[in-house]
Amino acid sequence: MLGLALGPDGRVLTEHRVSTPQVDDEAAGRPRGTAVADAIAEVVVEVATRTGIEDLDSVAIGVGIPGMVRRDGVLVFAPNLHGAIGADLEQLVATRLGRAAVGIDNDANCAALAEHHFGAARGVEHALLITLGTGIGGAAIVGGVVLRGSSGFAGEFGHLMVDPTGPRCPCGSRGCLERYASGAALHRQVTEAIAAGRLEPSTTPEQLLDLARAQHPVATELVGEFCWWLARGIANLCCCFDPSLVLLGGGVGDAHDVLLEPTRQALIGELEGGRLRPPPELVPTALGSRAGAIGAALVGEQRSAR
Ligand SMILES: [Zn+2]
Repeated sequence: MLGLALGPDGRVLTEHRVSTPQVDDEAAGRPRGTAVADAIAEVVVEVATRTGIEDLDSVAIGVGIPGMVRRDGVLVFAPNLHGAIGADLEQLVATRLGRAAVGIDNDANCAALAEHHFGAARGVEHALLITLGTGIGGAAIVGGVVLRGSSGFAGEFGHLMVDPTGPRCPCGSRGCLERYASGAALHRQVTEAIAAGRLEPSTTPEQLLDLARAQHPVATELVGEFCWWLARGIANLCCCFDPSLVLLGGGVGDAHDVLLEPTRQALIGELEGGRLRPPPELVPTALGSRAGAIGAALVGEQRSAR
């Protein structure tokens, strides 16, 4: 997890990264979420110390969580934070920091807020963020505001079902978009192509992208397939949100030099109204892997303003 101190102009003053604890709190006889909340509070204190902040009450504090965070601060589901599911993380973190409340939201929502304030969606009223990591994270900016929905779960774009007969997803459903257009999808494509004798046995997903850059025919075909699914997902989202801008980020999204153009091309064919309507602009995110933490600070600020 990444902690950072953000200046009023959006400049990162200090940052500190630690690994996320994977501890079974209940087995250790502690309430769920204890280890995660301890780690978050420790990172906040460390960043504040390094920045020279003596009074924590003088600054806003926000937390971005990779999972479904309810509006009241309870973590409802997070595949990579099993030990904290069901915990009132806002309360646990706030108590450790000696305050009544902290800001808390899903990390993709935080990233979208950051991109809207300081990054590639600055001033854009209707935009979507799609982060391609192991899975897909998402967030919608509607009328200049990050959409949270009634419970706080809006923007789970990775689990839009695109094929009811498709492969099983860790969320329990089938054929979710992230099975076809994410780091996990790229991994599956490579594995299948190796099994079919179409790629060298040692090929990695990163090498597949490099091969596509070098116009290798099989790699170009596979990346084209990946981008078609991504475009199909974006076209579905356009039916709901009609954005003027779609930001592509995340570890896999960093390969925008090979992914953006085929996705743009495929999108025109998939969009309702096709060429009769303006397609959304498709661009890389500007703030990179810090976007979630920068946005979390902004969520903290919004929370203290309430
Ligand atoms: Zn799913």
